[in-house]
Amino acid sequence: MSDVSDVKLKQVWAEALSDIKASVGEGSFKTWISKLDIAGIDDIVLKLIAPSNFIRDNVLSRFSSEIIRIMNSYGCQVRTISIDVYNKNTTVKNDSNDGVTKADMKEYQDISILDKRFTFKNFVIGKPNEFAYAAAIRISESEVPAFNPLFLYGGVGLGKTHLMHAIAWNTYHHFPKKKVIYLSAEKFMYLFIKSLRFKNAISFKEMFRTVDVLMIDDVQFIGGKDTTQEEFFHTFNELVDNNKQIILSADKSPSDLDGVEDRLKSRLGWGLVADIHPTTYELRLGILQSKAKQFKLIIPDNVLEFLAVKITSNVRELEGALNRIVAHSTLVGRHVTIDVAQEVLKDILRTNEKLITIDSIQRKVCEYYGVKLSDLISSRRHKAVTTARQIAMYLCKSLTTRSLPDIGKGFGGKDHSTVIHAVKKIKDLIANDKAFSADLEILEKSLQN
Ligand code: ADP
Ligand code: MG
Repeated sequence: MSDVSDVKLKQVWAEALSDIKASVGEGSFKTWISKLDIAGIDDIVLKLIAPSNFIRDNVLSRFSSEIIRIMNSYGCQVRTISIDVYNKNTTVKNDSNDGVTKADMKEYQDISILDKRFTFKNFVIGKPNEFAYAAAIRISESEVPAFNPLFLYGGVGLGKTHLMHAIAWNTYHHFPKKKVIYLSAEKFMYLFIKSLRFKNAISFKEMFRTVDVLMIDDVQFIGGKDTTQEEFFHTFNELVDNNKQIILSADKSPSDLDGVEDRLKSRLGWGLVADIHPTTYELRLGILQSKAKQFKLIIPDNVLEFLAVKITSNVRELEGALNRIVAHSTLVGRHVTIDVAQEVLKDILRTNEKLITIDSIQRKVCEYYGVKLSDLISSRRHKAVTTARQIAMYLCKSLTTRSLPDIGKGFGGKDHSTVIHAVKKIKDLIANDKAFSADLEILEKSLQN
C-alpha cells in the first residue's frame, strides 16, 4: 500500500465510519466499530485491526456485511473482511500488516543475523580503509558514544557491511550487556512507517529505548519519502540526545544522498564521516592472501598477484574470483596456474579489463610529470626523468601482467635488473614519503578509471 493510497484509505474509512454509525446505531457503534482500525485493502480483502478476540468475533459475525456494503459505496471493491487482533503488549495474531511488534525488534537484535565471518580479525587493513577501520574499532570499544553518528560510506563491495558487523561483534565482546541492533535502511524505514501508521503499535522511540547501538546499513534507500523525513529527523535527534550510538552506512557521503532534505543531510554528517576508498593493489593482494589462508589452500603467489592486478572493481568480486579458483583446484586436485585462472575467470576478467598497457602508463606518467616520452624511454639520467621512468616501470609491474624483461624492453631495451631496481626504489619511497605515495595513488587511480 503506497503512502498516497494509505492517506486516501484513511479518509474513506473516516467517512465510512459515520455511515456505519448511522446504520448500526450509536450504542453498537461505540461498543464495537469505534474500536477498529483500518490496516489496508489487499485485493478484495478489507483488513482491520481489533483490540481483542471478543471484538473481532462480534464484528465479523454481526457487522461485516454492512461494513463491506458501506465501504463499497465509497468505491472500494471488497468482498470480505479479515481482522487481526493487536494490543499494546502482545500480538495475538501476527501478519505483515500489524504494527511494529516486539518480535520485529527481537529479530534485528538477534546475533544470528550477523555474519560470523565479518569480524575485525578477518578485515584486512590497507590505506583505503584504515580510517574507517580505526573509527569502527574506536566506536566498538567506547563505553559512551565517541562520535555520533558514525557515517561510513564507500562504493559497493568495499567492506561497509563487514565493518558494521565487526562493530557489533566487538561491542558484544567488550560490553556483553549492551544491546545492539543492526538492520538495513529498508527494514528501518518499513518499521518506521509502520510505527507511524499504527497508533496502537510500539512507538518508534519506545522501540529503541533499550538499545545502545543502532546500526542502519545502506541509508541511501532512505531518500524520497518526504512525509516521514521530518519524523525521522526528530527521532534521530532524540536517539542521539539519549546517548544511543548510531552508525550509518551508504554508498555516498551524507551531502550526496539523493532525495534527502538538506537539514537531515547536514545532521547525518555531524558526527564522524569516514569513507572507504577504492582498493589499491596492495590491499587487494593482502585480502587475497588472507582469504587463501582461510581456505587452507596453497595458491601460488603469482596467481594471487595476477588476480590483484586484474580484478579491481571491488572486494566482493575479488572474493568471487578466488572462490571459483578454489572450487576449481579442489575439483581438479592440482595447483592453479595463471593460465588456468585466466580460463576459469574469463567472464570476470573481461568486465574488469581496463586496458592498462606499458604504453598507456608511459603516456600518463609523462603527462603527469611533464616529461617527454622520448626522454622517458631514453637513458637520460636527469633526476626528474629518472624518477618518472622508475615510477612508470613500477606501475607497469603492478598494473600489468607483463614480465620484467618485457617491461625493460618497453623502456628502450633496458635490462630487467633495471626494472627490479626501479620497483624497489619506488616501494621505498611509498613507504617513507607520504606525499609521494598520495601522489602516486592519484596517478594509479587515473590509470584505472
Ligand atoms: P559493502 O557493504 O561495502 O557493499 P561488504 O561489507 O558486503 O561490502 O563486503 C563485500 C565482501 O568483501 C564481504 O565478503 C567482505 O567480507 C569482503 N571484504 C570487504 N573488504 C574487506 C577487507 N578489507 N578485508 C577482508 N574482507 C573484505
Ligand atoms: Mg553492504
